[in-house]
Amino acid sequence: MSTELLEQLIERISGVLRHDTRAQLSSEGLQPVQLEALAYLARANRYSDTPMGVSEYLGQTKGTVSQTLKVLENRGLLTKVPDAEDRRVTHLRLTNRGRDILARVRPAPVLQAAAKQLTPQTLGALHDHLTELLKLMQQANQNRSFAQCVGCKHNSGTETGEFWCNLTQEPLTTEEVQLICREFEAP
Ligand code: SF4
Repeated sequence: MSTELLEQLIERISGVLRHDTRAQLSSEGLQPVQLEALAYLARANRYSDTPMGVSEYLGQTKGTVSQTLKVLENRGLLTKVPDAEDRRVTHLRLTNRGRDILARVRPAPVLQAAAKQLTPQTLGALHDHLTELLKLMQQANQNRSFAQCVGCKHNSGTETGEFWCNLTQEPLTTEEVQLICREFEAP
């Protein structure tokens, strides 16, 4: 397959997903980018659930992200929580209503319906190939990879079976290591 065809394919898939998301969100009065911010924050760990994290993940300016977050906060979909140790840091947490909306539209129904028709082997291969493609593109652009904490080179187990971040020198819970992190580095 040529790179041009691959690009067209990815753009078509993105277009179908965007169209489906818009249809799902029309009753909520939300824009797809606002949903993307919510979806990111639902998966982001405590080092990443900040306005800066959203800005880096979405590849948007701080000003644009600030507008997006204001809408979500005014709609009661997320709330600001000051960091317990550093009052300059603000964490962004989804409210129950924010989680409800996200659960209704993600994964996109059109993708769920298509995925049900694929074999587990095909789905697994798709996941692996797309993950590799994303990783290479992020490396080429020197973007942060925002991957799951459990696979990070700074993540080490303790003698008691818990997790420890060697970068921040803080313990991590079993729930936290399933989340994504802006500081992730591949081993
Ligand atoms: S181990 Fe890596 S991914 Fe996990 S919190 Fe530390 S820097 Fe982030």
